[in-house]
Amino acid sequence: MSTDIERYIEGIHTRDRAILGRAITLVESDRPDDLSKAQELLHAVLPRTGNAHRIGISGVPGVGKSTFIDRFGCLLVDDGHRVAVLAVDPSSSLTRGSILGDKTRMELLGQSDDAFIRPSPTGGATGGVGRKTRESILVCEAAGYDVILVETVGVGQSETLVADMVDVFLVLMLSGAGDELQGIKRGILELADIIAVNKADGANLEAAQAARTELASAINLFRPPGHEPWHPRVVTCSAALGTGLEEIWGLIAEHHRVLQQSGELELRRSRQQLQWMWSLVDEAMMAEVRGNPAVANNLEKLEADVLGGRTTAAAAAETIIGAMKLDR
Ligand code: GDP
Repeated sequence: MSTDIERYIEGIHTRDRAILGRAITLVESDRPDDLSKAQELLHAVLPRTGNAHRIGISGVPGVGKSTFIDRFGCLLVDDGHRVAVLAVDPSSSLTRGSILGDKTRMELLGQSDDAFIRPSPTGGATGGVGRKTRESILVCEAAGYDVILVETVGVGQSETLVADMVDVFLVLMLSGAGDELQGIKRGILELADIIAVNKADGANLEAAQAARTELASAINLFRPPGHEPWHPRVVTCSAALGTGLEEIWGLIAEHHRVLQQSGELELRRSRQQLQWMWSLVDEAMMAEVRGNPAVANNLEKLEADVLGGRTTAAAAAETIIGAMKLDR
């Protein structure tokens, strides 16, 4: 093992946050010479992983995710936990700016010695959105963080991506005057293990409670109780006041217990690994296809032909696959 990998491992084990940050940068890197180093590192830390609560947190911008994570993280730290915050940011690769995981947004937690906040990557070197976050989770676990919060914005793909790498998926929502159900995407009802209606305070308290009731009945309709080991729960909270947060932690712990006892936790995690394996294969195969000279030379014309209706999608796909086969 090279000395720099050894240094990373030692730093991870002694919970040196600067080294942990660098190790995550290595794991996230797409540079070919970093890939094998990252694998070596992950292999070495693997025995120390798997012991954390992996919690996904999602919600639209402005719902209160950073306020929630700040308060919730502090509550857990006060309770003796070590908390790592990672972010899967769908905006970063497009705008090169991050709207998540920013240390300054989690001021209190950022000051704690028992917390590690990873600012979200700002596009560029990291390539695909959140692709490597699974590996970052492992590195944080090896460093002794027993609660990993993975934050994402409530827009499509990144939510599914995060749900596929955590044990429990918490969705923060807002009450809106009468339009609670309107704004609910089917996807959220499918993915959520716990829904928390945030900003249940002041003049908004009653509306939040009403939203909770409506959401609970929507969940009952959509995912009738009795079919899954865990039935999704709906609560209210105020991240600003800190109310309802202990109840949410209680639910997360209960969810963990229920899934562990039913064997579902282990199943879920191994299914996630399998899924991850295939998505890595998909990605590598696609890179090979697109990088193949016989395909690449023809690609522009093929795409134009499909777009212009001069050939069918199926025929063009055959041409691409044929070119790959010839190459073997
Ligand atoms: P994010 O975009 O989801 O990370 O949302 P923020 O945490 O930045 O919160 C957006 C705004 O809502 C900020 O002005 C917060 O102060 C406010 N906010 C967050 N949580 C609450 C809450 O529980 N109650 C109230 N009244 N305001 C909140």
